[in-house]
This record gives sequence, structure tokens and C-alpha cells, in this order.
Amino acid sequence: MAQELAGKVAIVTGGASGIGRATAELFVAEGAQVVIADVDAGNGEELAARLGAAAVFRRTDVANPDDLRALVDFAIERFGGLHIMFNNAGVSGAMHPRFLDDDFKDFERVVGINLLSVMVGSQAAGRHMARHGGGVIINNASIAGVLPGQALMTYRATKSAVIHLSKCIAIDLAEYGIRVIALAPGHIRTPLTSFAPPGISAEVADRVRVAVGAAFDSNQPLKRTGRPEDVAQTVLFMASDRAAQITGVALPVDGGITAGDPVNHLQDIMAARARALA
Ligand code: NAD
Repeated sequence: MAQELAGKVAIVTGGASGIGRATAELFVAEGAQVVIADVDAGNGEELAARLGAAAVFRRTDVANPDDLRALVDFAIERFGGLHIMFNNAGVSGAMHPRFLDDDFKDFERVVGINLLSVMVGSQAAGRHMARHGGGVIINNASIAGVLPGQALMTYRATKSAVIHLSKCIAIDLAEYGIRVIALAPGHIRTPLTSFAPPGISAEVADRVRVAVGAAFDSNQPLKRTGRPEDVAQTVLFMASDRAAQITGVALPVDGGITAGDPVNHLQDIMAARARALA
């Protein structure tokens, strides 16, 4: 089969780990030239070296607009254009199980990395794409931006904003042949969702990983653990010409979580009814 992204140049932010890493690998396998942008130079450099001449690492703090603009310029200079911008880097920020306990100390950092980066990255890439026949901007949001819930309030707020913003940008940039897509991954097994506290042994970390994974899987209809490659395949499709008629959507990649609660509440209600009638 022909390589789907042959001749395309892509930027993947947060490309040193997890979903970004899997996407960079798949993009190169599909013929793209890829700039891996991340604050993690160790893993980013290692990945780029492994992927060969089609990949290069560029240290970038996505919360810094100058860094992001320089990243776009770098990609264009290095590979001669920019066709796909995957604004993927993100952090969860402090957990604060309840809203009333939040001290908002993490607010600016999380908003900078998760939201400002998407605005600036989309604009910098969009300015180039608008002058060069179009392109695709894919923004990684989350089901946390779709489903209201407890905890992680700043994270949820940024991800919800990324979805709304992506739809607005899709409308604004459509006349230039630029498609804009938001993704809403569910629970994907990456370092972001390992919930491993720092300083624990590999054995304990593995135990935590298995326990957390089981808890994740239990609240999704598909009892299948989400992998970074699942999201990467979705990014590939959205970036490809097969998705030429798709823009302004927020696509869940979530094993059915946003389809609804997998618990059979009617069964519980009928059991309660039966107990009351007994
Ligand atoms: P990850 O932690 O494996 O990777 C995130 C990458 O972003 C890391 O390499 C990290 O160094 C980089 N990064 C962090 N701050 C940065 C900054 N300021 N500048 C540049 N790079 C920075 O996490 P992941 O799970 O692959 O997450 C990728 C994206 O997917 C995030 O936006 C996240 O919110 C989203 N997401 C993940 C899940 C999940 O279950 N893993 C679910 C929904 C959404």
C-alpha cells in the first residue's frame, strides 16, 4: 500500500512520549517528515535518532509563544513546508479531588500548556498553510473536555476550551483549505495516566499501572485498554486525504465512554424494586 503521508511535513508537539510519540512513529512510517517538539530533550532526541532522516527533534516549550512560532519556522526551513500540525502536548496539572480544595497554583501553567499553545500553534501553522494551499490542524483535547466531572477542574476547562476553539478555528480557516479537528481521547495508557508517584520501585509502579488500568477499563463500554497507537491511527486518518470532508468535529477515541454509562442502572433499579416488594 502507498504511504499515506508521502510528501507531507508534520509537527507533533509532546512528541517525546505517549500519544505524540506513537503518532510521530506512525507518521514517519507513512512517509511524512516530522518535527518532534517537546521539553523532554532526552526522549525526543532518542526517538528522532531512531526514526532517521525523516524526523528531527526540536526542544520547544509549547507554553511559550515565541518557542512555538520558532518551531513552525524551523519545520518550514528544515523540510520545506508544513502540512500537518498536531497540537498534542498537554499536562493534567494538580489533582485536587474536590473543587473547594483547589489553590489554583497550577492554573497558569496548565492553561499555558493545554490551551494557549493550541491557539498560538494553530495560528502560526495556519498562517503558513493559508498562504500555501491549506493543511490540517489537529488538536488533542480529551473526554475530560466533553464530560463534566469531579476533580481536575483546570484540565477539564482547558480541554473543553480546546474543543470549542477548534470548531471556531475550523470555521474561520475553512476558506483557506485548512481543516481543523479536535480529538477527545478517553483513557489511554501513557505516562500521563500512570498515576505512579515519584520515587517508587519499578515493581510497585507496575502494580499501580495494572490497578489503575483495571479501574479505567471498568468504566468504559469496550473492555479494552486504550493505547497510544489507537489515537495515532485516528490522527493519521484525520490528517490524510481520506478525511477531506471532515472539519470542525470533536471525535472521541474513548472505547465508548462518552456514549453513556456502561452500568445497567435499570437492572439495579429493578433489583431494588424486587427487594422492596419481597
Ligand atoms: P504523556 O505525558 O505521555 O506525553 C505528553 C508529552 O508532552 C510529554 O512528552 C511531555 O514532555 C510533553 N510536554 C509537557 N509539557 C510540555 C511543554 N510545556 N512543551 C512541550 N512539551 C510538553 O501524555 P499523553 O497521554 O501522551 O498526552 C498527550 C495529550 O493527550 C495531552 O494533551 C493529554 O491531555 C491528551 N490526552 C491524554 C489522555 C490519556 O489517557 N493518556 C486522554 C485524553 C487526552
